Amino acid sequence: MTVAQIKHYFQSRTGRLALTYLVIIMAMTIIFSMMIFAIASRQFDRPLDGHGAGRIIMGAPDNLRVLLNQRAEEARAELLLSLLFLNLGMLGFGMWFSNYLAARTMAPIERAMQEQVQFVSDASHELRTPLTALTSLNEVALRRKNKITDADARDLAAKNVAETNKLYLLTTSLLGLVHAEQKPELMQPVELQRAVSDAMEHVLQLAQEKSITINDAVPNVNVLSHAERLAQVVKILLENAVKYSHKAGTVMLYTKTHDNIVTLFVADSGIGIAEKDMPHIFNRFYRADQSRSKTRNDGYGIGLAIAKAISEQLGMNIRVESKVGVGSAFSIDLPLTHGA
Ligand code: ADP
Repeated sequence: MTVAQIKHYFQSRTGRLALTYLVIIMAMTIIFSMMIFAIASRQFDRPLDGHGAGRIIMGAPDNLRVLLNQRAEEARAELLLSLLFLNLGMLGFGMWFSNYLAARTMAPIERAMQEQVQFVSDASHELRTPLTALTSLNEVALRRKNKITDADARDLAAKNVAETNKLYLLTTSLLGLVHAEQKPELMQPVELQRAVSDAMEHVLQLAQEKSITINDAVPNVNVLSHAERLAQVVKILLENAVKYSHKAGTVMLYTKTHDNIVTLFVADSGIGIAEKDMPHIFNRFYRADQSRSKTRNDGYGIGLAIAKAISEQLGMNIRVESKVGVGSAFSIDLPLTHGA
């Protein structure tokens, strides 16, 4: 290790934390060594201090007392040397151990920070796209030599509103994600049918526009969950099922019950998800190739990340099975509060 590398290490977060751990370890070792030395020293002096066993040799010849004194000094020196070696050994071990501990402590923190940085940079990147479009639209209009007609002005205003709507949708999704990742709220019995119909209200218009039939076969059972958040997850899954279905397709909502767990399925006969996309669809900002080519009005790849975050908090298992060209079935497991 070069001096520059050592300097760099101690400037890093892990290095600084390791140094703190090392100081604590060494401070404890030194204090214990001093205590051992003080206690042992008192024991070495005992026979000569006129108390206890010392009384027996009070009248002992001087040369015996000198010898005992000398032995006590030797024992003290030996103990001091042993403690010195022990402390040096502890310094070596402490350096390795504190580095190990610091690396273990910092690993999840560094990972979380890295994720945060990635999130901010992805979000900024997504925010820039509609902002750039807005700026260039208006710049082009301002640079025009000829007069802007009413029709042009309307067209420009409509485009501005469209880009602003994209920004609104994106910021709403980002806020939704932040909210979804907050700590769990109180879990209560929730009527599953009610949560499903709340979610359905939000997608009916889109379903009608695409002539998609939604078959709701969800029974009237109570599950332990959070009404609003459960409805939000179902809404995201339903919205996707409709969004990624062909015109005049069918979306089905049904349940299966086993061991006091009811599994809610949201299944569609839409475009399906390619195998290579499956491991990533729950990641923030991830959109499969087919979806990416669509307009940004459709979403930003945040919906499923929100659904997953909420599911994790509510202790629901979220899964997907899909086949390209056949369709997808998303499911969530919910604990029944009483029999189905
Ligand atoms: P988006 O806003 O793109 O819909 P999501 O996070 O909700 O973002 O979904 C991520 C990606 O997963 C989508 O872009 C799409 O490629 C894929 N996906 C999600 N649900 C379905 C579905 N029901 N059918 C096909 N693909 C889907």
